[in-house]
Amino acid sequence: MNKKTIRDVEWAGKRALVRVDFNVPQDDEGKITDDTRIQAALPTIRYLLEHEANGIVLMSHLGRPKGKVDPKFSMRPIVERLFELLPEATEVKKTEAITGEAAVAAASSLQPGQVLVLENTRFDAREEKNDAVMAAELAKLGDVYVNDAFGTAHRANASTEGVAHQLKPAVAGFLLEKELAFLGSAIERPQRPFVTIMGGAKISDKIGVIEALLGKCDAILIGGGMANTFFVAQGRDVAASLVEKDAIETAKILLAKAEEQGVKMLLPSDVVVADAFSADASTQVVSADAVPAGWRILDIGPTTVQTYSDEVKAAKTVVWNGPMGVFEMEPFAKGTFAVAQAMADATAQGATTIIGGGDSASAIEQAGLADKVSHVSTGGGASLEMLEGITLPGVAALDDR
Ligand code: ADP
Ligand code: MG
Repeated sequence: MNKKTIRDVEWAGKRALVRVDFNVPQDDEGKITDDTRIQAALPTIRYLLEHEANGIVLMSHLGRPKGKVDPKFSMRPIVERLFELLPEATEVKKTEAITGEAAVAAASSLQPGQVLVLENTRFDAREEKNDAVMAAELAKLGDVYVNDAFGTAHRANASTEGVAHQLKPAVAGFLLEKELAFLGSAIERPQRPFVTIMGGAKISDKIGVIEALLGKCDAILIGGGMANTFFVAQGRDVAASLVEKDAIETAKILLAKAEEQGVKMLLPSDVVVADAFSADASTQVVSADAVPAGWRILDIGPTTVQTYSDEVKAAKTVVWNGPMGVFEMEPFAKGTFAVAQAMADATAQGATTIIGGGDSASAIEQAGLADKVSHVSTGGGASLEMLEGITLPGVAALDDR
């Protein structure tokens, strides 16, 4: 990686201003339902504690408070969880402030071993406008800027991009470094065969990614709802399945490009269909050419599972984005979990396997195989943009090595 990291800084006596991604899911009472993102920031925080940084100031956004203070999106529950997860810190404090005198006072009173969490950066409307004044105010809170928020690195915000220009050095944390290492090298220097699996509900979310991958991989395996639109592009009838009418032309173009470039693009040969979009619907396995009228495709079928699994297991690099079916409902989860298992098997045989996308990450988690693959990205949108070959603004603004 050509960006400086926290290893390149002599920390003693220096205060760290760290952008983390603490945008965790919460239930209606504000209870954190999944703290993966907090856990993912711990290696960087621990390193800064061990290297005697003169206090650590953490900042993140949480939810979509739309530029106004909204107690529902307060960082308070996160601070409590962080304190539990970080016994090494002598103190984990919270301030109501984001910038201004109170924030400066709280930051400058920090001692080594202490952590301060600022209030939700999106309580300030200037954050998402990448306001230079807000960035300058944030820059006063530390001596070194660290970006470890991969999940928001694709957004140029005051706390991700703006501040990196105003507080130097500006370096990457370990999570950001790891994400860039896996996603970057998969795209730039994949070991071949390089196979990608694309699924999820819609093509329209992922046109750019499919286009970019067509130029780089050896095979693309298509599943999920997006396969339906490809079927229609080939002139097939998918009955009541989800189809994106606006994307049919695009699907035709992608199929033609794959053929032109000699990339193997596979569509499901058989599918699981249901007579309703429901976990207790009647289901059957049919050929992809024979979806009965009134039925809808909700998963890939067993023959397709076999074909896709064989492709995955023969690969040296695999990138997977998007579930193969409506895996949230048990009768339509088999295809997704089978692909997850094939990823784990490929990893055991020495392949590099990468998962991007929020729903795909939660699928591999549910399958209990998250630690059996090489890398599960913590960023949804950011990982897609990386795969698309787009330079993330939050990364670009960091110091080159
Ligand atoms: P990711 O978050 O991994 O990028 P997406 O958000 O693109 O994935 O897609 C996930 C969603 O796609 C899931 O909620 C899943 O239910 C839905 N999906 C998958 N297959 C189908 C299908 N055949 N019909 C309708 N929805 C589907
Ligand atoms: Mg999603």
